[in-house]
Amino acid sequence: MARYTGAVCRLCRREGLKLFLKGDRCFTDKCAIARRGYAPGQHGQSRKKISNYGLQLREKQKAKRIYGLLEKQFRINYDKAERVKGITGETLLKLLEMRLDNVVYRLGYGSSRKEARQLVTHGHFLVNGKKVDIPSYQVAVNDVITVSEKSRASETFKVFAENPKTLPNWLSGNPENFEGKVISEPARADIDVPVNETLIVELYSK
Ligand code: SF4
Repeated sequence: MARYTGAVCRLCRREGLKLFLKGDRCFTDKCAIARRGYAPGQHGQSRKKISNYGLQLREKQKAKRIYGLLEKQFRINYDKAERVKGITGETLLKLLEMRLDNVVYRLGYGSSRKEARQLVTHGHFLVNGKKVDIPSYQVAVNDVITVSEKSRASETFKVFAENPKTLPNWLSGNPENFEGKVISEPARADIDVPVNETLIVELYSK
């Protein structure tokens, strides 16, 4: 699967805010946004007036970067969202939230979505008892996500179990049993990403 291999802190600097792409480092004073909170490149420090199109583009780029997707994968999700009855922007975010790699991250496995994705591709998780190693796999309500028996003994998973995260309303978890459950679809208010999805819809509707 194609993925971005460049410097990730550059992505945050381009968007002008922390996207939390590097896990624990993002909470330290080594964060590039704290040290150089301006756009990268030769003209990064010059102030530019941003057009309407520019605003829409930046919003889309931000969403892509937060969820770690490239344009093609992001567009596939958008096209899916468009076919669903309802508010396209909100459906898009819901689809992104319900990707297995994001759910695993929300359940507390991985300090970043990137790390969570790697754990998924390495085959550490089961969905309803079956191994799933596809990060883009869409979970559904009532799905149960568990860590495979073999992986539970590893130090990595013990640390995750001992430091449970606060879960969003749409997930429940039982860290001692290495288990999480999707109890509902996420509402927009449950999705704490700093993205104005309306601008993304405007961009793609042109
Ligand atoms: Fe972004 Fe984290 Fe890098 Fe800070 S440390 S710039 S939040 S990826």
